[in-house]
This record gives sequence, structure tokens and C-alpha cells, in this order.
Amino acid sequence: MKFVYDFTEGNKDLKDLLGGKGANLAEMTNLGLPVPPGFTITTEACKVYLESGEEPAALRDEVSAHLVALEETMGKKLGQADDPLLVSVRSGAKFSMPGMMDTVLNIGLSDKSVQGLAKQAGDDRFAWDSYRRLIQMFGKTVLGVDGELFEEALDAAKAAKKVTVDTELEAADLKKLVTRFKKIVKTEAGRDFPQDPREQMDLAIKAVFDSWNGDRAKLYRRQERIPHDLGTAVNVCSMVFGNLGPDSGTGVAFTRDPASGHQGVYGDYLQNAQGEDVVAGIRNTVPLAELESIDKKSYDQLMQIMETLENHYKDLCDIEFTIERGQLWMLQTRVGKRTAGAAFRIATQLVDQGLIDEAEALTRVNGAQLAQLMFPRFDESAKVEQVGRGIAASPGAAVGKAVFDSYTAVKWSRSGEKVILIRRETNPDDLDGMIAAEGILTSRGGKTSHAAVVARGMGKTCVCGAEELEVDTKRRRMTVPGGHVVEEGDLISIDGSTGKVYLGEVPVVPSPVVEYFEGRMHPGADDADELVEAVHRMMAFADRKRRLRVRANADNAEDALRARRFGAQGIGLCRTEHMFLGDRRELVERLILADTEVEREESLKALLPLQKKDFVELFEAMDGLPVTIRLLDPPLHEFLPDITELSVRVALAESRQEPHENDLRLLQAVHRLHEQNPMLGLRGVRLGLVIPGLFTMQVRAIAEAAAERRGAKGDPRAEIMIPLVGTVQELEIVREEADKVIAEVQEATGTELKLAIGTMIELPRAALTAGQIAEAAEFFSFGTNDLTQTVWGFSRDDVEASFFTAYLEKGIFGVSPFETIDKDGVGSLVKLAAKAGRETRPDLKLGVCGEHGGDPESVHFFHEVGLDYVSCSPFRIPVARLEAGRAAV
Ligand code: PEP
Ligand code: MG
Repeated sequence: MKFVYDFTEGNKDLKDLLGGKGANLAEMTNLGLPVPPGFTITTEACKVYLESGEEPAALRDEVSAHLVALEETMGKKLGQADDPLLVSVRSGAKFSMPGMMDTVLNIGLSDKSVQGLAKQAGDDRFAWDSYRRLIQMFGKTVLGVDGELFEEALDAAKAAKKVTVDTELEAADLKKLVTRFKKIVKTEAGRDFPQDPREQMDLAIKAVFDSWNGDRAKLYRRQERIPHDLGTAVNVCSMVFGNLGPDSGTGVAFTRDPASGHQGVYGDYLQNAQGEDVVAGIRNTVPLAELESIDKKSYDQLMQIMETLENHYKDLCDIEFTIERGQLWMLQTRVGKRTAGAAFRIATQLVDQGLIDEAEALTRVNGAQLAQLMFPRFDESAKVEQVGRGIAASPGAAVGKAVFDSYTAVKWSRSGEKVILIRRETNPDDLDGMIAAEGILTSRGGKTSHAAVVARGMGKTCVCGAEELEVDTKRRRMTVPGGHVVEEGDLISIDGSTGKVYLGEVPVVPSPVVEYFEGRMHPGADDADELVEAVHRMMAFADRKRRLRVRANADNAEDALRARRFGAQGIGLCRTEHMFLGDRRELVERLILADTEVEREESLKALLPLQKKDFVELFEAMDGLPVTIRLLDPPLHEFLPDITELSVRVALAESRQEPHENDLRLLQAVHRLHEQNPMLGLRGVRLGLVIPGLFTMQVRAIAEAAAERRGAKGDPRAEIMIPLVGTVQELEIVREEADKVIAEVQEATGTELKLAIGTMIELPRAALTAGQIAEAAEFFSFGTNDLTQTVWGFSRDDVEASFFTAYLEKGIFGVSPFETIDKDGVGSLVKLAAKAGRETRPDLKLGVCGEHGGDPESVHFFHEVGLDYVSCSPFRIPVARLEAGRAAV
């Protein structure tokens, strides 16, 4: 196996092997763009190291061979005393991952070669500055020395010299600082800073491998659902210098605005600076447009390169570049992160530019982004006290209590508080707090700062670089212009779409995307914004592409109408128990407690017209579209009074010798019906089989409602669904009775009714015997909530509060199986039942109505296994439509 690839050997499609950074460096090299020469050590080498604890035997020789080739190209040797070749060592996994070791620059400098570099560059200051940076970065990331110690020493050097920025330190000061840094390394790491350049390089490579399993990297992977076994690649790249004076510098840029998608010049530039200076926000950057007046030639070349990259990648790219004495170098590019709104706009813009087609456009957005765009926003007409404005780094409207450190953010959010994390700037140590917070506010840093990039990735509201806010993290407070002080715990509101910061709690209004789905905003209208246009077009692309139909889980006409506006093609689940709450509960209670046939008949008779009316309304709202009505499902005790309350009432009445006969009778019945495991008890089809007349009353209500709608020239398309079936016999009995009732209603009303009867598949036994069950069922609807509960053997009502957090933390699952379908377990049963069912009955209709029906990843799975439709709550319908379209690409 080959472990090392020269930049000229790879390409952008080799991300698995070369990591994102390495693959793209190779791609740029092959496009003829100015990339400093170098090579990439593969993720395979990292995997061997992680598994065995040792680098692969062949790696050292391969690295040596590539290093020799690099030295030949550059005409100098690594760390050579009189004219050293210096390299950077950078991590680069398949997915960009904050929290991993990022970069060590200037490898190859030593007490000797620093002199050579000074001579070659004709600049002592530059050489010593580069050396102190090496010791600092190497000390921190490779040898694990606390970075603060170096920062403090640097601050002390500046204070001694009475200067404020590091560029004002001179060669002699930096030389002293190097001595100080080396002492810190010796004391803290228990070893000298290595003088051998190859040892520096090898240790840095190993540190990159090790950083894959750092705590922050692991946490990030869990959050982002990135597999733990991918490993990282390592890029070794010859150094170019942005800190060689005013004609040098370094910057980051986007080929278009990552917040709006608009074309233009977006980025930050920092003169006379190296590497991380821009991203870390240590000195203030200038907008990229100003580079035109600083260095026109490099600026023009950069614009040209950005155009080349956009046309080549057919997408927004972000880049890092360095200018060394007027010569432009490309250090990195990748398809850039963007806000949800920009993703939709960019996808449609690229279609209009003819760069991509509709199908490709669908791969550029996702359901999570659409869901984000459906969040409410701040009410602009509300009376607000704006106290600052920063950069709109990641959209959304966030309100919460001010906290100034990650620890408090996590602690408070665990106890149910909403918090806004306020920092001067964030770094990977703040990741926990950022996850816990509703939103993030920083006073330093631009659109490419750590806070901005990470928040965008997490879909979290972020305002960064709000410079007029004075953040004092030590005293846990922030002073706003005018002198008002925001203390820890005070409420603030931040708007990630405008960058505005407000005191107190600002009211929120619905998003324009929801207004569009609701039919209150029309694409093409004068006031429709660009985002609505883009969403409208993308939804049309998805609808044209998708095979899966999308239905709604809805139990009343209001929800059904909303679902229809949102694009539902029917109702996949009407839970009739929701119709038995409120005033009707008493009627159900009477039915359950009925001692005699007469009593039971009476309560059923009272329920019938109420049920019928519900269904008439529902059929009217969904006229012409299928409506699947599920017969009563939940355990009976849900309709009865609480056992403890009732016991107390009876005991009190007894002690006061008051009449309590009714309560006593009720209590006895409640005792009789009490179950240890109600979810595994008398519910679903079992109810229909033991309470005579219950299911037939419901079927009669459905049939009569359908006949009534027919009479009114409507087009009702009812489907009757039996829950919690475990064996075909259950279904056969219920079916027989239902068919009889339907025939009676047909006869009585003179209306021909076509009512399909089907079942839910929500027990493992039902899935395993699906071939038999299909003989009595015209459709299956997978109840993946109960199926997940019964396959895993844990209670869907209790787990979230008990052991799930521990399971998620231990990485047993990356996400709750109640949220995203467990493909291997529950999914296997779905697949098996779908296949067996269709073998029995080729035209068997298959759907899913568990919560998974609106979950993006699960929708793809249901598409793959050949279901006909997914059904989800009305608000998730647009997401399901979009994902069903994406699944079909
Ligand atoms: C299910 O179990 O997936 C389902 C849709 O039914 P319910 O959630 O009502 O039990
Ligand atoms: Mg269920």
C-alpha cells in the first residue's frame, strides 16, 4: 500500500484517502494554480497507527523519498543551516474538524538555521519571529504545553517594551523570547525543544495522528455524526511567508457571500502576518477589497483564481492564501460552509448560471437547512433596545441568559435555562458551551473566525465581531455603548441574520418561508424575498424528482388543511384517540366501565355521531386524497382517572362516612384494568377484540361519514387501519366485523363505498409474519415508534430522561433511534416485512407513519427500501418532500 502522495499525484475525489485539504491541494496543483509543493500522508497510514500504536513500517522510507523529491524541487534541504527549507505540517481529515490539531508552521528552524533564514531573507526580525512561532505552536500542539504560558510570556515581552502589537517587537526582543519559550518547553514538557528538523517533522506528524482521538475531536465527531474510524491525513507543505513585510500578508476569502450567496468580494486580509493570525482574530483584518489598493497584481490574480475555482468546483469555495513579497500562493480551498438560506440561493443561482442541473441542485441543500429556515425570526416592529451590531455570522433569532464561559453554558442549559454564550472570541475549548447555547456572541473576529465557522456548521445562531461590546469574561459581564452593563444571567437577544444585539427578550415572528408554505407570501410577488423564490424553486425540483409520496399525521381539519397547504398528499395517520379527549372522555369511561350490554350500547350510541362528525370534517379537508384512520390504540387506563388520586378520594370519603359508591366502583375497575406494562398490555387491536362494539362503532362512523360526503358530491378516500397487530388472526376477526358494518352502511345509504382495510406493522412479530398478515391487509403502515420500542426493548416514554444521555455520550448511538431509524435493527425488519408483504400481495401499499417519516436520514432509507409514502407531522412535510426528492437523485 502506498502511504504518501505528492500534491501532483492526487485529486479532489480522493478525500477518503487524502483528507479534504490534501485532495483539494492536489486538485489546485493539477489546475496549475500556485500551490507551494508538498505531499500528503494518507488516512490509511493514520488508521494503521491508531490501530497498532505504531506508524506503518514503510512510512518512514516513503516520507524520506518524498522529502528528498521536495528538497530537489525547492533547491534546499529541510532545516539546512545556511538556507533552510521550512515546511508546515497540517492535519486534514475527510471532513473539516475543529478540535483536531490544525497546523505547525516553520518546521525546520533551529538555533542554527534561524541564522541562515535571517541571512537569506535579509531580515533578522522575520527569522526570529518565525522561530518563536514554531516553538510556540510545536510546544502547544505537539508537546502538549499550556498555550497560555507562551501567550503570557509574549504579553510580558510587549509590556516590557511598552508596545501593544507583536509586530513592534524587534529581532533582539524576539531572540530573548525564543530563549524564554525554550525554557517553558523544557520545564513543562520535560525535554528540550528538538533541534533536529526531521525529528520535528516526525513528531508533528505523529501529533496529527494522535489528535484524531483528542477529546474535542471525538466530541465534534459525535455531534456531527462523523464515523470514528476514518482517521486523518497529514499534509507536509513547503512554507511561504506572509510575514516578510508590508508587501506580504495572508488572508481568507469566499468566492461568494456565504451568508447571502451574492457574488462579490468577500474575505479578510492581514498584512505582514502568518497563518492563523487571520482566523484567530489577533489583529484586526481589513476587508479583502482593500487588497486591490495594497497589491493590485496579486488581487487581480486572486480574483481570477477564485473564478477558476468556482467554475471548476461548480460551487462556493473558501480559500486561504498567502502573499510572499508580491507572489501569491494558494494554501487551501474547499467547498465552503454556508448558511441555510445561502445554500438555497446558491443552488438556484448555479442552476441559472448553467453550472449545475436541477438534480445536482438538490444535493446542495438538505432538510435540516430547510427546517432551520422555518424557524421564527425577531419581530422587527417590536420595541427593542439595540445595543450593538456585529457580523451576521449564522442566522436565527436567539434569546437567552448571558453567560461568559463554556462551563456555565453547559451547567445552566442542563438545568433547562436558555443561554447565550458571550466570549471575546471562541476557540475549540468552547465547543461544549457552543453546543449547549441557543446562540453565540463574540466581540472579535470576522466571518471566518472560529465562532462563525463552527456555529454555521452547527446551524446555531451567531453574531461575531460586535466590537463596541466590551466583554470581560473574568468578571462575567459585558459593557455596552453608553455604559450599561450586562451581567451574567441578564436576558439578551441576538439576531444572526442581521448581526443585531438587543437587551432583554425580543418577540419573534414566523419566518417568510413558513409564510410562503402557508400561502401568505407568493413567489414572484413584489415583496417576496429572494429566499422564498429559491425555496419555491427547490421544492418544485424536489417534487418533480421524488418517487415517495408525502402524507401528514393529522387528527383534525385544521391540521389537515395546514398539511395540505404544506404539500401533503393525504393523511397517513389519524390517531382517533385524540378525538376521545376532553368532554368525550366521560363517554369512553362509561363504555369501559359498562356492566351491562345496555349500558355499553348506550355509550357507543352517544359516541357514534361525534366520531362521524370528526370524520366528515376530515374528509372534507382532504377531499380527493387518502385519509388513513387508525382505530383506537392506547391502553385503556389513559381514559380512566389516576389510580392514586382516586384511592385518596375514596379513603377520605370512607373516613368521613360520606357516600362514595360511584368512586368505589370506579376504583375497582381501575384496579382491574391496571397494568404493570401498559405499553405491552391491553391496547391496539386487543381493545377491539375485548370491548365488543368499540371498533365496529368507529368503522360505522367512518363508513357513514364517507357516505355523507359522497352525498354532498365529495370525494372521500378513507382507509381503515388496525393498530398493534401481531398475528393475522387478529386482523381477520376485526376485518370480518368491519366488512359486515361497511356492507350494512352501503345498504342503508345506497352508496357504494370502497374502504381499504390495512394494518400497522409495529411489533416484531408482525414484521416477521408480514407474508401472512398481507393476506388480510390491503396496506401496511410501519409504526416505527412502537417498532423501535419493541425491537430494542426500551420504553419510548422513559428512555430520553433515563439512560439515553449516557448512551449518546458513550457513542453507543450517534442519535436517538427514536429520531433516526436504526437501519440495522428496526430497518431490517421494515425491509423484510415490505418484501414478504409484497410477495403475498404485489399491489400492497406501503407507508410509514412513525416520527421517522419526517426525519431526513430516515426518509432516504424509506426511499431505498421501496415504500410508497412517508407520513409526518404537518410542519415536517416540506422537509420530507425535499428529502424525498434528494433521495431520488
Ligand atoms: C408508531 O408506533 O410508530 C405510531 C405511529 O403509532 P403511535 O406513535 O401512535 O403509537
Ligand atoms: Mg404505535
